[in-house]
Amino acid sequence: ACVFSDVQSAPPIEVFLLNRLCAESKDPNKVNLGVGAYRTDEGKPWVLPVVVAAELQMANDKTLNHEYLPVAGLPDFRTAALRVLFGSEHKVITENKVEGFQGLGGTGALRLAAEFLKKILNYDIVYVSSPTWGNHKGIFKAAGFSQIKEYRYWDADTRGLNCAGMCEDLMAAPPKSVVILHAVAHNPTGVDATKEEWAQILHVCRERELFVLFDIAYQGFATGNLDEDAWAPRYFADQDMDLFVAQSFSKNFGLYNERIGNLAVVSKDASKLPEIRSQMEITIRVMWSNPPNHGARIVATVLNNKAYYEDWKGQIRTMSDRIMKMRHELTDNLKKLGTPGNWDHIVKQIGMFSYTGLSAKQVEYMLSKNVFMLGSGRISIAGLTPKNVAYVAKCMDEAVRA
Ligand code: PLP
Repeated sequence: ACVFSDVQSAPPIEVFLLNRLCAESKDPNKVNLGVGAYRTDEGKPWVLPVVVAAELQMANDKTLNHEYLPVAGLPDFRTAALRVLFGSEHKVITENKVEGFQGLGGTGALRLAAEFLKKILNYDIVYVSSPTWGNHKGIFKAAGFSQIKEYRYWDADTRGLNCAGMCEDLMAAPPKSVVILHAVAHNPTGVDATKEEWAQILHVCRERELFVLFDIAYQGFATGNLDEDAWAPRYFADQDMDLFVAQSFSKNFGLYNERIGNLAVVSKDASKLPEIRSQMEITIRVMWSNPPNHGARIVATVLNNKAYYEDWKGQIRTMSDRIMKMRHELTDNLKKLGTPGNWDHIVKQIGMFSYTGLSAKQVEYMLSKNVFMLGSGRISIAGLTPKNVAYVAKCMDEAVRA
């Protein structure tokens, strides 16, 4: 018998299934609102001009080669990534209390965090928001966490944050629990805590001695301002919390397939960083040995050049402005159609996504019209364009009235 005869199909990965169904659809009106990737007004992927400039410079740089990178990653990238995250004046940077470790995208940074927390620090319980990004639970399960618990987050009635429920759930967390907090532009809900709410969350984390892992995959996408979008991790670090922060440059650099991320480790005892580094390196060594160069080099080239850095900030603004414009256009279209219900949350939610509030049955209707979106009702606003937004609104209107 074949060794593989008992292998069963795993459930499909929803976003990638939607991509395939959309690619296969012959409907000229089809719209892909599934995957969280930026699109232009023409519905096309966007290679940031500053990325092209950096790549041209790299192609002509005769000093570069394809030798292995250090296990912890490209040094120029690691330090630059930390400056973007915390700002160069933050005390964790000036007091050398933070170090970065290059990861394979945000996912790799999270996987590295989970592995370290389990194997080196013996954590076994992790709390994720309800709902959360589809991969958090799997990543921690793969690292061997035996308990993956949820804290309340989304309030379906207010279509906002249930901060009281969240704090109550975290207050009940057993000792030695990890909590994953979305730093900004929560995926999938697009709902973030206010500064006052962050203060309450910090208080609970400190009270229960929870280990905080921030996931920051959308820095720049919420307000268009990198500093504003990193407010929460900066605040926690200000308050002398030991932290992990998993950064992704997939979205804000449009480098999805280069797999470039960074795990920032903040230790209030700076003298422990060499030991932490040595354990991180061993952890990395058995997973991917050393990370890929191309994306790291692009990000480092841009962040370490004043003119490129300014260009990049402008291009992030281009992306976040277009997304904001599409939020307004979708809401305006629904209002024009008189679609039953209140749709103001689409404008209020931030980042790349909107949690529309459409039910599973209504989503099914959208899919039947070849508007591809997650079963949870999440849409990627970046998939909307001036050409397709009226069609999407019309389908939503019909779905709600059906
Ligand atoms: N975390 C969140 C909340 C995300 O939405 C994503 C990507 O969709 C990631 C992490 C991972 O990003 P990457 O593609 O860099 O692995």
